[in-house]
This record gives sequence, C-alpha cells and structure tokens, in this order.
Amino acid sequence: MLDKLSPQKIQYVTILGATGTIGLQTLDVISQHAERFAIFALAANSNVKGMYALCEKYQPSYAVMLQQSAATLLAAQLKSIGSSTVVLHGDAALCEISAHEQVDIVMAAIVGAAGLHPAMAAAKAGKRILLANKETLVMAGNLFMQAVADGGATLLPIDSEHNAIFQALPQNKQGSLASMGVKRVLLTASGGPFRNATIAELKAVSCAQALNHPNWVMGPKITIDSATLMNKGLEVIEAHWLFNALPEQIDVVVHPQSVIHSMVEYIDGSILAQLGNPDMRTPIAYGLAYPERLTSGVGSLDLLTTARLDFSAPDLVRFPCLRLAYHALNAGGSAPAILNAANEIAVAAFLAKKIGFMDIPQLIEQVLSVAHIEPIESIEQLVLIDGLARQSASVRVEALC
Ligand code: NAD
Ligand code: MG
Repeated sequence: MLDKLSPQKIQYVTILGATGTIGLQTLDVISQHAERFAIFALAANSNVKGMYALCEKYQPSYAVMLQQSAATLLAAQLKSIGSSTVVLHGDAALCEISAHEQVDIVMAAIVGAAGLHPAMAAAKAGKRILLANKETLVMAGNLFMQAVADGGATLLPIDSEHNAIFQALPQNKQGSLASMGVKRVLLTASGGPFRNATIAELKAVSCAQALNHPNWVMGPKITIDSATLMNKGLEVIEAHWLFNALPEQIDVVVHPQSVIHSMVEYIDGSILAQLGNPDMRTPIAYGLAYPERLTSGVGSLDLLTTARLDFSAPDLVRFPCLRLAYHALNAGGSAPAILNAANEIAVAAFLAKKIGFMDIPQLIEQVLSVAHIEPIESIEQLVLIDGLARQSASVRVEALC
C-alpha cells in the first residue's frame, strides 16, 4: 500500500554477489516491487549458468564476472539471444558498477575479502549501501566508515542481527551509544548445529554436518562460520564499527530459535528486540525501502507455534573462534583483518576436507599469535597484511594435511 501512497522515481540497483544466497533473495524482493526498483548491474565470481539465467530474466545494463574466462563465455551466450547486457570482468569492473552515476543502491553481498574493493567504491561514490559483506567491516572498519562519511553514503546493515539493532536504536543515531541512553547491544546467535556437542564430537565433525544449519539457508562459508561461532565473532567486530560500540558494550547470547534477531538494552532497563521469521528478505526489504517499509514475501511469525524462546551464554571453550574475535577486536589495528584472512583460508581448507573442524580455531590462533599487529592506514597496506596472513595460514594448513 505504501508504494501506491508514495510514488517515487525508480531506484537502480547493483547487486554484487548476485548468484549467491543474499543476491538471489535481493532479486526476489526486487521482483515483488518492479515499480520501485530496476537492476542496473549484476556481479558474480564464476557461475556463468546462474548469471546467464539472471541476465535473461532481469536484463541488467551490465553483468560482471570476476574471472575473464567466465565473462567471455557469458558474453557469447548472451549475444546468441540478442541481449544488450554489457559483460565486463575483474575487480576494477566490480568497482565501476558500484560507483556508476546511474546507480542508487548497491547490495554488497560478495562473500569474503573479495567484497572490500567494490564496497569501498560504493562508499566513496555516496551510494545507499546495503551491507551483507561483513568481512568489509572486519577488515577495514575504520577506512570503510571514513569512506562512508566522506562520500556521504547511506549505510544500512543487512546482517540480520545488525539490522535488528539498527531498528531498535533511536531513529536519530547521532553520537555515542551512551549519549543515546544505550547500555549495550545483544547479538543473538543460534549456536549453530553443534550447540550441544562435546569437544570430542566437535573434533569429529564432517563437512556435511557443518553445512547443515538448523535455522538459516546461507552460502557455504558463512554456514561454516556459524557452526564455529566465528560468524558471531565477525558480527561482534561488525557491531563495533556500525554502532560505535565498545567491546564491553557488545554481548552475545545464544538463542536457538533465531526468532529474536538481536536486542538493544537502554540504561533505564528497557530491552528492545526485533523479532521475525529467520528469512533474510526482511532485512533486505528494510534496506531497500528505508525509512519506509515494504512487503518482503516473509510470512508472519507465529508466536503460538514458536511457543518458547531460550537463551544461554556462549561457550568460549568449545567455540574458541568467538573468543579469538573479541581478542582481535581488543587488539585493534590489523588484528581483525588477520583473523579474517586466517579464517577464510581455514574454512576453505575445511570445506576441501584438508583439515578438521577444531583445526579452524587452532590455525587462526597460531596465525594471530605470530602476526605483527599494526594500525591500518590504507587499503594498499591492508591488502599486503591480508596476503601475508593468508600465506601464514596456508603454510599451517599444509603442515596439517
Ligand atoms: P554465497 O556463497 O551464497 O554467495 C556469494 C556470492 O559472491 C556469489 O554470487 C559469488 O559468485 C560471489 N563471489 C564470490 N567470490 C567473489 C569474487 N571474488 N568476486 C566477485 N563475486 C564473488 O554467500 P551468501 O550466503 O550470499 O553471503 C554473502 C555475504 O553476505 C557474506 O559476506 C555473508 O557473510 C553475508 N551474509 C549472508 C547471510 C545469509 O543469510 N546468507 C546473512 C548475513 C550476512
Ligand atoms: Mg548474521
């Protein structure tokens, strides 16, 4: 109804990571509101088949594949059906479609460190950024937030926890949390598929078991991160940057039902929570329409069926990744970027069945313990630090194989 009451100009959207879980859910919401949004550009890594289908359906002005061979193949296929979509490739093209003057909204949903450059480009160009790629903030929180401020961009968190906190904070988000009367933010965590597993059981976890998340459908990397609780660790660092929250103002509470997506506690004792079915189309629709509301295709939460909400403290002994993330946040500087890089290598090695589940935190801890931590002053420096941490992690992976 809102749409009919407030007709507005069509908003042009670039989706980075279009073939992924978040990318496809974004397209789903946009398809429900074709009178409000149009696709300007779609980008993916190497999935030509997926990208071809999306280009055929959405007819973007640009399609970008990271890999040149994938772009060449896609261009040939699109040409054969007379498509006018221009196909580009590479990191520079990802940045171009993020900063292009015709673009209003950029959905940053590439997985991992690869999402950093295009997200930075969107920030500098002053776009509305729907940030799903939490790794951007973990690696380059200070640089990215500065680019958002300098570029006059609008940053809207898509990660469900941060979207919930954003919704529960006062409308006018000026100043520190304390100046808004906020005591702390509480990030909820499902606890993943191994919430009740013993350390012995965790050591024997298989890839298939770890990829089977109880509540959310997500890409493989974030699903493993959810199982190790590194996802929550990355989210603690993400919350630090997004809400200017001190480490001691960010708590994690395990809530297996994933119905409360996160909470804000105020100094008067009030706790405001955002609830809903665990479906990313809610935060995506929120980001697309903010400050208005749009239908998202997500059904009403049935509180009677939900019946109960459980809470417990996270176990940092069985899930050391969360402890390591707090450690990296407290250490500051390059520590979170090193944590992130080591985690990406460790998760890829676990997915490739080269290392065990409990090797993931061990490997990250080793990389962090030998790394030199320094203040981050530029993206170029960050790229070097990221590369060194990946090397250090890869050497340790090989030693474990
Ligand atoms: P996914 O694996 O399903 O999709 C990743 C997308 O990124 C794909 O389109 C892939 O082609 C693209 N991609 C990967 N590497 C690339 C590269 N080097 N260059 C260009 N494109 C590349 O992942 P996802 O679950 O959609 O998650 C995407 C991001 O959103 C992650 O940062 C994740 O942490 C975050 N996130 C996801 C969810 C979720 O529910 N899936 C929730 C919160 C946050
Ligand atoms: Mg999340």
